[in-house]
Amino acid sequence: MRSAVSGLELRTPDTLGEALEMLAGNPSLVPLAGGTDVYVDLQFGTAAPAAYMDISGLEELRFVEERGDVLALGGGTTFAAILRSEAVLLRLPMLVEAAATVGGAQIQAAATVGGNIANASPAGDSLPVFAAADATLVLRSASGERRVPFNDFYTGYRETRLGPGELIVAVEVPPVRGPQWYRKVGTRAAQAISKVVMAAVRARRPRVAFGSVAPTPVRATHAEEALASGAGAAEVRAALARDISPIDDVRSTASYRLAVAGNLLLSWWEQGEAG
Ligand SMILES: Cc1cc2nc3c(=O)[nH]c(=O)nc-3n(C[C@H](O)[C@H](O)[C@H](O)COP(=O)(O)OP(=O)(O)OC[C@H]3O[C@@H](n4cnc5c(N)ncnc54)[C@H](O)[C@@H]3O)c2cc1C
Repeated sequence: MRSAVSGLELRTPDTLGEALEMLAGNPSLVPLAGGTDVYVDLQFGTAAPAAYMDISGLEELRFVEERGDVLALGGGTTFAAILRSEAVLLRLPMLVEAAATVGGAQIQAAATVGGNIANASPAGDSLPVFAAADATLVLRSASGERRVPFNDFYTGYRETRLGPGELIVAVEVPPVRGPQWYRKVGTRAAQAISKVVMAAVRARRPRVAFGSVAPTPVRATHAEEALASGAGAAEVRAALARDISPIDDVRSTASYRLAVAGNLLLSWWEQGEAG
């Protein structure tokens, strides 16, 4: 994976503190976690070569912890680690399902949660999970730490509130009450970027989030309200059309994505508690 960055400047901090100092000194340093997105960008020339900082060895970023009610995942936690975690399986099973759909086993072993979030692709598999779970991101720089609600983090297509010199050090997930659900619709079952991805929590006020159907991952708040009020299928679909704005691209068409998103939503809701 690292061959694409060999020959480019690569700095390797030993601790998180050192990494944050390096970033403070040079905010244009590009953090490199699993490298699975950075590598592709370099290989395909979609990102200009830059100076990199390898954060993959920082144990302080790799953890799954239960902090009271909150499930905390380090930014450097890999999807493979999520798949092995009892705590995630118990508290956030929709994330385990998402982790299982991220690439194949080799990608899961390297790819991190922080990289998936910071890469800010609207098709990122974990993003609808964190949106539906009302997660909070913990961002840290050399000058301090701040918390940003996940649902406020994305400001536009591949734009985020991550500031210069900041790393995603953790994702905090409050208790999720109610059955969880996750579906990814792609061309193939494995190694496919999603056409539509949905995560949902069944509660009196349902929580539903989609990926790949708008410039950013989105909470479908109008559809949530329609479901909560007992609206019929046509009304729910109309509400959903206000929440998402699919595009035509090489993977799918806008109208297909809207229809599939509506079908996923209604089939989940109609499954009842077993969903
Ligand atoms: C073959 C293949 C298949 C894939 N399949 C899927 C898939 O099915 N679903 C999916 O969602 N993705 C998929 N991906 C994309 C990729 O694996 C994920 O987005 C992954 O989570 C990125 O994590 P990473 O650690 O490798 O990030 P990196 O490539 O290291 O970094 C990605 C971006 O995030 C930044 N960054 C990384 N960590 C942090 C941090 N802690 N704080 C701040 N910024 C940070 C980097 O600077 C960079 O801009 C695939 C990639 C490949 C190559």
